[in-house]
Amino acid sequence: MRSTMQDDQLTIDAIRRHVVAVHPDGEVVTATADGSRTRSYAELGERTSRLASALRGLGVDGDQRVATFQWNNVEHLEAYLAVPSMGAVLHTLNIRLFPEQLVYVANHAEDHVVIVDDSLVGLLAPQLGEMTTVEHVVVAGPDAASADLDSLRSSGKQVHLYEELLAAAEPTFDWPEIDERDAAAMCYTSGTTGNPKGVVYSHRSAYLHSMAVCGGNTGGLSFEDRVLPIVPMFHANAWGLPYSAMMSGASLCMPDRWLQAEPLVRFVTESRPTLSGGVPTVWNDVLQHLDANPGTRLDSLRLVLCGGSAVPVSLQQALQERHGIMVRQAWGMTETSPVASLGLPPLGCSEEEQWRYRGTQGRLLCGVSARIVADDQSVLPADGASVGELEVRGPWVTASYYRPEESEREEAEAKFHDGWLRTGDVGHLDELGYISLTDRAKDVIKSGGEWISSVDLENALMAHDAVLEAAVVAIPDEKWQERPLASVVVRDGASVTADELREHLARDFAKWQLPDAWTFIDEVPRTSVGKFDKKVLRRRFADGELR
Ligand code: ADP
Repeated sequence: MRSTMQDDQLTIDAIRRHVVAVHPDGEVVTATADGSRTRSYAELGERTSRLASALRGLGVDGDQRVATFQWNNVEHLEAYLAVPSMGAVLHTLNIRLFPEQLVYVANHAEDHVVIVDDSLVGLLAPQLGEMTTVEHVVVAGPDAASADLDSLRSSGKQVHLYEELLAAAEPTFDWPEIDERDAAAMCYTSGTTGNPKGVVYSHRSAYLHSMAVCGGNTGGLSFEDRVLPIVPMFHANAWGLPYSAMMSGASLCMPDRWLQAEPLVRFVTESRPTLSGGVPTVWNDVLQHLDANPGTRLDSLRLVLCGGSAVPVSLQQALQERHGIMVRQAWGMTETSPVASLGLPPLGCSEEEQWRYRGTQGRLLCGVSARIVADDQSVLPADGASVGELEVRGPWVTASYYRPEESEREEAEAKFHDGWLRTGDVGHLDELGYISLTDRAKDVIKSGGEWISSVDLENALMAHDAVLEAAVVAIPDEKWQERPLASVVVRDGASVTADELREHLARDFAKWQLPDAWTFIDEVPRTSVGKFDKKVLRRRFADGELR
């Protein structure tokens, strides 16, 4: 029997219509050098119609790709709404990709238009000539008119000013009917080897994922919230936070390019967000700043979602106990839209157990299923002990990559196993559905046939008072195949020796698990999305820089 229910499509356009009609009084605050600028959702309603009209005028029709090269700001949000709602596909370019990767993804996605922030013109211009399918560049932001437009024009592309285009465009747009299974947005993941791989989100997947992020076990969002996505809008759709906020009528606080701790903290005190999301390195920087400025309180924040890499319990404890900031660990990947699980502890456990659960990657959101698979592809029990690769599936988990290169097709297909996505993350599941990850498969340290968890060692090292950051990688060893090398950043004004750190670790780890190589460095290198870059550390070791 079929249901009697209406079959309205779950689309970004439905979110656009909702936020404009039902929450016109919500606002988007964007940070500037010396304050902020604000636009209401009502204003966004007209501006997104004008943007869609303007893009149509530039020839964007059907499922053409419109790329953004932008920080988290209101113009980027306008593209988030207008591009998928007009039936085109939003491609959020990662501004921190290496030039050749940037050119690769723009050409691979066949971007037709690029919208670029005024402050990023200098970064885009040198690559633009090689982006063969791009015909138009639209410069957005308050200082667009004074940006170096000639550097863009010299690529032979047509260059436009965003505000001029919008002013000249029709204030209404004939929004098309959209099939919820059609592409809405695409994002390339930087985590794989070889060329970045494209993930294409559908309207339906983005809608369902955003609803899940709104839920009480996740963000618990309402129109009383103010949401600050620190995670970039080019990194897995800023974890769905912009769409989730608009679904809930929550206002948005956009940090633009002011992501260093000092301006970020100032923006939080001024724009008063209630919920934020960002990777652990950002929150570690914020913690240092708050510790150094005892009078500063971020008391508007009721919840911080943190993920992208393991979130040390010591960081969560310091933020909560010293600064009243509640952090919840989330796990996900570009391929999973990204949020798939969240680390709320179960009911009725002791404080100590609560912290243990908060150190895990958390419980799955409804819709996502997970299992642990052994090297021989057999499924292992969810018993809190059997370790293997985590596989997931669900309506916001990708089923393939977008048109992998012929030479990479086999590798791309190998990421899927009987309809499940192989995450490349290693760990276990317990009886209550909590995921505990010990490593990424490529970061695993295999010493004498036994696994050593780099994540556990890092968490323990970062819990030491003198340690600001720590990253542990495998280095080749003749006898044991691999041994752990710990790279440590010592906190300003503190001092500690390798022997002291070894002793500190020896309380929780067996002797054979302890790193026997140690280096003290000024900062752990970061990836394009702000995570510790272990590839660089391994390369530095191979080059003889780290000994
Ligand atoms: P990139 O590969 O560029 O880092 P992704 O954001 O897609 O881009 O990375 C996803 C990976 O990040 C996951 O497969 C996992 O290894 C790691 N990750 C994300 N969240 C967590 C977390 N809470 N704990 C441990 N690892 C995490």
